[in-house]
Amino acid sequence: MENNMIQLPESLDGKTILVAGAAGFIPHTLSEFYLKLGASVIGVDNFITGSRSNLDKLYPYKKFEFFEANIYEDLPDFKNRSIDYIFSLASPASPIDFEKIPLEIMRVNSEGTLNLLNLAREKGARFLEASTSEVYGDPEIHPQTEDYFGHVNPIGPRSCYDEAKRYAEALTMSYHRKYGVDTRIIRIFNTYGPGMRPNDGRVIPNFINQALTGQDITVYGDGSQTRSFCYVTDLVNAIHNVMFSDDPTPFNVGNPDEYTIKECAEEIITFLGSTSRIKYLPIGEDDPKRRRPSLGKLQSISNYKPQVSFREGIQKTAAYFRDLAQIQGRNDFKQPNL
Ligand code: UDP
Repeated sequence: MENNMIQLPESLDGKTILVAGAAGFIPHTLSEFYLKLGASVIGVDNFITGSRSNLDKLYPYKKFEFFEANIYEDLPDFKNRSIDYIFSLASPASPIDFEKIPLEIMRVNSEGTLNLLNLAREKGARFLEASTSEVYGDPEIHPQTEDYFGHVNPIGPRSCYDEAKRYAEALTMSYHRKYGVDTRIIRIFNTYGPGMRPNDGRVIPNFINQALTGQDITVYGDGSQTRSFCYVTDLVNAIHNVMFSDDPTPFNVGNPDEYTIKECAEEIITFLGSTSRIKYLPIGEDDPKRRRPSLGKLQSISNYKPQVSFREGIQKTAAYFRDLAQIQGRNDFKQPNL
C-alpha cells in the first residue's frame, strides 16, 4: 500500500452513526453496512420519498434506532447522545421529485443541512454531505473531474436540486473553514439497486419495471444521451472510503461504465429476456447529454473499484422489484428470465 492510501476501520463497535434519510435506497444500504461493521446507527426520515419497507431490513439489528422527523423542521433532540459520524443523505433525487416537491428539496438541502452541520459542530462529529453529479449540470468536459465548476442553469427545472446541492457543498466548506468542523463531500453519480421506489421515475426502475411487465420502454429523446451506472453496494463502498479519508474537498463516487440510454434499454431487455419494445418520447429541458465520473481522485487515495457488473446489478434489482410486486399482491409481472 502506498503512503497516501487511507486506512479503513475494521470495526466501528462503540461508535454512533446518524443517517439522515435512512429510508432511502442508498441510505438504508449504507445503514446496514455500518450495522454490520458493529456501529450503532440512528436513522431519521420523514418518508417524503423514503420507503418504510426499507427499514424492515434494519429493525432486526439491536443497534438500530429510528426517528420519524423532518430534518429541516424538527430534528430530534440528541442532547444526551454522543454521535461520531453524520451522513447527510436526506434529499429526494429523482427528476420527477424536482417537479413535484421543489421547495422541500431546496429546504432539506439548505436548512436541513444547516441543522445537521450544527449538530456535527456540537457533537464534534465528522460530517459527510451527499452531493451529486448534478452540480456539474450539462457538463462541457468529459469525463467530469472534481475541479470542474459545472454548467448549471440556475432557473431550469433541475435547478431546485442542482443549486440546492451546490449551496449544501458551499455550506459544508464554510462550516469546515469557519468552525473547523471535520467534513467530507461526495458527488454521487447515477446509482441504482434494491430499495428504489418502483415508480421512482428514474431510468433504471422505469426500464426494469417496463421490461418485467412487457410494456414499452420509454426512451426520452433519441436515447443518445449517456449515463454511467453504479450498483448501490459499490457506491456504499466508495462513500465509506471517502468518509475515512482525511480530505474535505469533493470526491466523485460512482462507476465509470458509460452507456447511451438506448443501449441501456437494449441491455435491460436482453438481461431480463423481455418482449418489450422501445418507444421514443420527448426529452426534458436541460437533460445532461453526457455523464461519466472521473474516479482518479478517489482511486489515488483508496483501492476503490466497482465490483458489480451492469448485468448482475440489473438482475438483482429486477429480483427486488419482482418480490415487491408479489408482496404487494400484484400479478401483473411476467416471469422474468433471471
Ligand atoms: N430517461 C429515459 N426514460 C425514462 C427515464 C429516464 O430515457 O423512463 C432518461 C433521462 O431523460 C436521462 C437518463 O435517462 O437522460 C437518466 O435519467 P434519470 O431520471 O434516471 O436521472 P438523471 O441522470 O437525468 O438525473
